[in-house]
Amino acid sequence: MRAISSKRVFVNGHLIEAAIIIKNETIKDIVDCDKIPANCQHTNYGDLVIMPGLIDTHVHINEPGRTDWEGFNTATQAAAAGGITTVIDMPLNCIPVTTTLEAVNVKKACLENQMWVDIGFHGGVIPDNENELIDMMNAGINSFKAFMIDSGIDEFPASDVATLNKAMPILAANNATLLVHAELDLNNQEPDIKDKKSYQEFLESRPDSWEYEAIKQIIELSQKHNCKVHIVHLSSAKALELIQSAHRKGIKVTSETCPHYLTLSSETIPDGDGRFKCCPPIRDNNNQNSLWEGLENGTIDFIVSDHSPCTPALKKLEQENLWEAWGGISSLQFGLSLIWTALQKRNLGIDQLVKWMCERPAHLVNLNHCKGKIKKGYQADFVIWNPETKHTINKEDILYKNKMSAYEQHTVLGVIEQTYLRGEIIFDQNNKNFTHKPIGKYI
Ligand SMILES: [Zn+2]
Repeated sequence: MRAISSKRVFVNGHLIEAAIIIKNETIKDIVDCDKIPANCQHTNYGDLVIMPGLIDTHVHINEPGRTDWEGFNTATQAAAAGGITTVIDMPLNCIPVTTTLEAVNVKKACLENQMWVDIGFHGGVIPDNENELIDMMNAGINSFKAFMIDSGIDEFPASDVATLNKAMPILAANNATLLVHAELDLNNQEPDIKDKKSYQEFLESRPDSWEYEAIKQIIELSQKHNCKVHIVHLSSAKALELIQSAHRKGIKVTSETCPHYLTLSSETIPDGDGRFKCCPPIRDNNNQNSLWEGLENGTIDFIVSDHSPCTPALKKLEQENLWEAWGGISSLQFGLSLIWTALQKRNLGIDQLVKWMCERPAHLVNLNHCKGKIKKGYQADFVIWNPETKHTINKEDILYKNKMSAYEQHTVLGVIEQTYLRGEIIFDQNNKNFTHKPIGKYI
């Protein structure tokens, strides 16, 4: 048996002085520090915070097929360094896209010796794959992503209402969740672009109304089919009223937003810098404030990275061409520090951090019975960190494949010292070599 202790362990909604007893990968007990059994190998972490490992249910790992963009090895090392102990991979932009059982198996075959944290997959809904959904569910997948707009990937076409009408009853009957990229292209013609560098023009090309109308439509479909719907990467605060109204009616709609929508705003995004391009876009400061209010009042459920990397060439940085740049923000490793830093300004605490980045994401993928909390019987997944120390995000520190981020040179609060997965140390700030054996599991 092992014991880890600290003056600040997050248990039952509070930071308390306690020791966690770990046996067989799980939390055997939580005890006072003077009650640690004599046969335990004990590590005292002083006053570092011990918190549940983060759960990031929105990560694009892109392997197989686009492994030059990202891969399981690098993504899960970055996750471990970011205090994340479970990632759920999106059904695109890998090749093949995860829309068939065969594709699930192809992806699973890539995992061996590359899982530094636990990994699960989301499946995909595309036109005409409704006959694959049951097979994928039988293989353990319980959440499926659909796009209501062009995904940028030819093999992953958008789902129109007819497609959703076929897929949603199947998901509902099996208690699975539909994840939705909620934007509807309301333009009848190609936009007339005057300056391809201009962030403002890019922003105006994907207005709030696209998210609003999509969310309105998907809520109606959720109600019609009694199908659980989860809105991914909510960017527009205008849509919050729709989600609130759905909640009042008891419609099963949840939502997430991402660090970039909560910490960056259009007023300060430089023109021509593809690192800041994502869809839906990062909007203005007022919108950002309303998203925070949406989290605080429970309209938005949680925060995930939407880590969606690509190669530097695809970001068109030299050309400064926002229109041709691939959309997606890379931030997998930095979510905890970014959100912790932002919480300071809003006078919010670690309880919110745990709720938004551990407990509630665990719910989405049905892991809330074993992960996301420090509780007797739960898996011994922890992040051990110093909330009072600052660090600057440098290219050299990035562990994911393409060393690029919208947050380079940002100074943030919160340094992760160690990460535990099922009782084993998987990341150590003083030894980032990853020479041990990866112990992550497919879940
Ligand atoms: Zn995404």
